[in-house]
Amino acid sequence: MSRWIRCNICGFDDTRHLFAIDSGSVVRCRNCGLAYQNPRPDQLTDYEEDFFLREYRDFYGVDYVEDRENIARIARRRLDAIQRLVQRGRILDVGCATGFFLHEARCRGLEPWGVEISGFAVKHAREKLCLNVCHGPLESAGFSSGFFDIVTLWYVLEHVDDPSGLMKEVRRVLRPGGVLGVAVPNLRSLYRLLLRRQWMEERRKQRHHLYDFEPRTLRALLEKSGLTVNSINSEGKMARSLISRVVVGGMGLGNVLVAFARACEPS
Ligand SMILES: [Zn+2]
Repeated sequence: MSRWIRCNICGFDDTRHLFAIDSGSVVRCRNCGLAYQNPRPDQLTDYEEDFFLREYRDFYGVDYVEDRENIARIARRRLDAIQRLVQRGRILDVGCATGFFLHEARCRGLEPWGVEISGFAVKHAREKLCLNVCHGPLESAGFSSGFFDIVTLWYVLEHVDDPSGLMKEVRRVLRPGGVLGVAVPNLRSLYRLLLRRQWMEERRKQRHHLYDFEPRTLRALLEKSGLTVNSINSEGKMARSLISRVVVGGMGLGNVLVAFARACEPS
């Protein structure tokens, strides 16, 4: 069984086929350019132990827990960027997984909060790192409006059923002037443009990616949600040396998009 989906950003139902993956096809909205899996399979990923240990290892060569130092190194770089905008306060990591990012945030003097749908990951974050993590989706966590100074979503938006709905709730819990940090895989990467077959081979297996963002669609989603975009940069494969970081990253062609935005002040 599967469901037919309208574009999550603009609501149009007018698409063209982009490419096929194991669980169906990815289409592109002819109106705003958003790429998404349509029709949508009913059987979605459960993100339990098997996802963090076996599936992650199949893709990256180490499991999620073994990859902690690498995840922490990236977390510290992103916290540097966030703390140039907001130094102190409460930070909410949506989809915080095992809590490695929040642990680094706590080391910087921020007050860490997490939400996570995976019972396996929540248990790790609570028991191993003593973090305050709500088990379930953000929408059912019941935070009061404007409670957070910072909200982060690292590799979350491409997995969720309704990114616009999630971003509406993110905007509600973020105080006016608060900072949002987002990372998603980049459909418009040099890696995909140059090594299309290799990229496709990896992407084909990622049945749990329901959306494929690129700079313009990520910007459209953030702006629609009441946020002012500070920056959208890219990093990752083919953007590791200094020269390629400047050229590939600066042109938005790295394989990961990283955006920082602020919640608009009420007018
Ligand atoms: Zn659209």
